[in-house]
Amino acid sequence: MTRSLSPGVETAFWSLLTAFGYFLLAALALYATKGADNIAAVWPPSGYFLALLLLMPERARLGSFVGMAGASIGANMLGGTPPLGAAAFTLANASEASVALWLLRRREPGELSFMIPRAVGNFCIATVSASALSASIATALSGKGVDFFLSWLSTVALGMLIVTPPIVMLARLIGSKALDNASSRMKTEAVLILTAAAAVTATAFSQSHFPVTFLPCIAVVAAAYRLGPFGAATGMLIVTIVASLLTGQGSGPIAAIDDSQKVKVLFLQFYLLAMLFTTLPLAALLVVQRRLARRLEQSNRWLIQAEAAALVGHWRVDLVRWTIQWSDQAYRIHGLELGTPVNVEYSVEQYVDEDGVAVRKILAEAVRTGEPFEYQGRIRRTDGEIRHVKSHGSIEMSRGGKAVGIFGTVQDVTETVENARILEAARSAAERVANTDMLTGLPNRRHTLAFLEKALVGAREHGAPLAVAIFDIDHFKRINDTHGHAVGDAVIRRVAQRAKAALREEDMLGRIGGEEFVCVLQRASAQAAEIVAERVRKAVETGNTADLDLPDATVSIGLAVFNGEPDVEELLHRADQALYAAKRDGRNRLRSAA
Ligand code: GH3
Ligand code: MG
Ligand code: MG
Repeated sequence: MTRSLSPGVETAFWSLLTAFGYFLLAALALYATKGADNIAAVWPPSGYFLALLLLMPERARLGSFVGMAGASIGANMLGGTPPLGAAAFTLANASEASVALWLLRRREPGELSFMIPRAVGNFCIATVSASALSASIATALSGKGVDFFLSWLSTVALGMLIVTPPIVMLARLIGSKALDNASSRMKTEAVLILTAAAAVTATAFSQSHFPVTFLPCIAVVAAAYRLGPFGAATGMLIVTIVASLLTGQGSGPIAAIDDSQKVKVLFLQFYLLAMLFTTLPLAALLVVQRRLARRLEQSNRWLIQAEAAALVGHWRVDLVRWTIQWSDQAYRIHGLELGTPVNVEYSVEQYVDEDGVAVRKILAEAVRTGEPFEYQGRIRRTDGEIRHVKSHGSIEMSRGGKAVGIFGTVQDVTETVENARILEAARSAAERVANTDMLTGLPNRRHTLAFLEKALVGAREHGAPLAVAIFDIDHFKRINDTHGHAVGDAVIRRVAQRAKAALREEDMLGRIGGEEFVCVLQRASAQAAEIVAERVRKAVETGNTADLDLPDATVSIGLAVFNGEPDVEELLHRADQALYAAKRDGRNRLRSAA
């Protein structure tokens, strides 16, 4: 509001506002609540001045101090204090304001907030310390005793504790437009509560038949509860004004106490202090609690949204009470109505038999070791559908190192599992096609040679026996030429079947060319390999008589036993040489490589 003013006008504004308000409040306090030694029960000008100092820009402070000094001397003299005494009191009040300000700026360098319990505590410390200082100065300068010191201390401290917070908060409320934004229902409620506080205090302090000084306490606590720190501070201010004015006029239960004026003032001060120290921190704590609750509620909402978006739920087992809690998404994953009561047993029983056993084992192990866990299994939902779910989690330990809870996430991975299965099926089908010879169904050249390569490594590294036999159909061109290509194909197929049937379980047969085949004979001595190869030759030959529909066919076989060859080519070359020898020696026979 003063930002647009020139510095000179601004300083004059704050200085006049200080002087005018200070004088008015000081005169009022002196007139209405005058206690012993010309000291009022509460000294509101101190609180007013501190509030202005906190609100005004730094450059306006000096002028404000000048305004305060003038107003203070004037008001004190008007109240009957001689000029020197008035000057001494003014010096004391000015020093208390500067010390309070200095302490507050040191402890709360940012804007002083009455919404933070720590800041409220610092405010109390700063004002009480500053009051102690001003009480010392005033006592020393006026040459009075301990009574005067204590009386001044409590009066000034109360003035600052009670008057500063509502003025600062109200100014900030107006400045921040929070008042405009507040709903009319809230404003009505604030007015009603504060009016009630005034009415209750007036009732309690305008009669002395019923000792109902506790009623204003209830009103201020209600104001703190419903309106927060602003309600507590304003309620306190209202109670202070009404109670001090009425007590100062000699009415109410405190004025009726049968004791000296000094004791009555002291009682009023303690009454107000007790109420203040209960409600102001309580209100600040309430604000913190509400802010925390709001934040908690919000993060909970975000968690629910995140879980729904990511399709991940969570659960927690309380190992002490043996109960389980599911998040909304966990319910959805399990196909259960939200909020249906569930227990630990039921949760594990949802897993299909062997998966349930595994889950129990993993969880028991995790609880035993305290280590994080992870598992995946199938659950049978209430609608009978089987779903794959995955869980990650950890164990919650008590301070004594005892497992007290299990926390885990749960994720529906059915689609991922299905996709992986489809992919695996497609991959293995593709692999089968890539490795198989379409005519005979035998492993093709690529696969056969790869197999042989591996067998060769085994033979070389572990000394496992290995032999390879290459066979080729004799005069196959003739068969093709005489009977046609299709019959030729059928002959190739029959030869493959016969040869396969003659081999042992551990032997591998592949087609590596048109009518050329390779047998990989593992775990067979040279002798045994020869017997097997001969069996193959014989099987093809005898197949002729068994199957009269097709032209006769025989095979020539070249056998090579592994002899430390460095690679497959070399071994095959030896077998090929032997095959060539078999062909040369008249075909339909077996020859072994040298
Ligand atoms: P040899 O006894 O010396 O082996 O004489 P061969 O006539 O069998 O001679 P070779 O092994 O060189 O002949 C292979 C023939 O096999 C040549 C080709 O026309 C034929 N052939 C190759 N692949 C196929 C096939 O998939 N189906 C058919 N029907 N014939 C094929
Ligand atoms: Mg050939
Ligand atoms: Mg041939």
